[in-house]
Amino acid sequence: MGDSVCVATPMEFREMLRGAALRVTRPRVAVLSAVHAHPHADTDSIIRAVRGHLPKVSHQAVYDSLRVLAAAGLVRRIQPSGSVARYESRTGDNHHHVVCRSCGVIADVDCATGEAPCLTASDDRGFSIDEAEVVYWGLCPGCST
Ligand SMILES: [Zn+2]
Ligand SMILES: [Zn+2]
Repeated sequence: MGDSVCVATPMEFREMLRGAALRVTRPRVAVLSAVHAHPHADTDSIIRAVRGHLPKVSHQAVYDSLRVLAAAGLVRRIQPSGSVARYESRTGDNHHHVVCRSCGVIADVDCATGEAPCLTASDDRGFSIDEAEVVYWGLCPGCST
């Protein structure tokens, strides 16, 4: 899968918002579109992308949209240690990330076993475990040469 980008139409973004019972607003449509177009982008990059369409949108409107979209499950927020929060449109598939220790670039890695939690705890301590947060670290092709 990698980071292949499949950008939906503005009509489809409005449908996604309605499908999640969210009010359709221009900032929300623009933010959802920006996250689809720029997987793993941080908030500053999303603000820049959104301002390409809505020049007057406030930081606060973008922050609020990201929070609402993440709470509704339309976008996923990830934050590898040492990184600022990043957002992506690929949700609900328990995929993992590989992060470059040198330049910080992030790529998607499919779930190691196909379903969560893809790592069996050696001792579940009586918990009913439903997720293991897996982040792979290493050097990207550009940094390892
Ligand atoms: Zn790198
Ligand atoms: Zn991802």
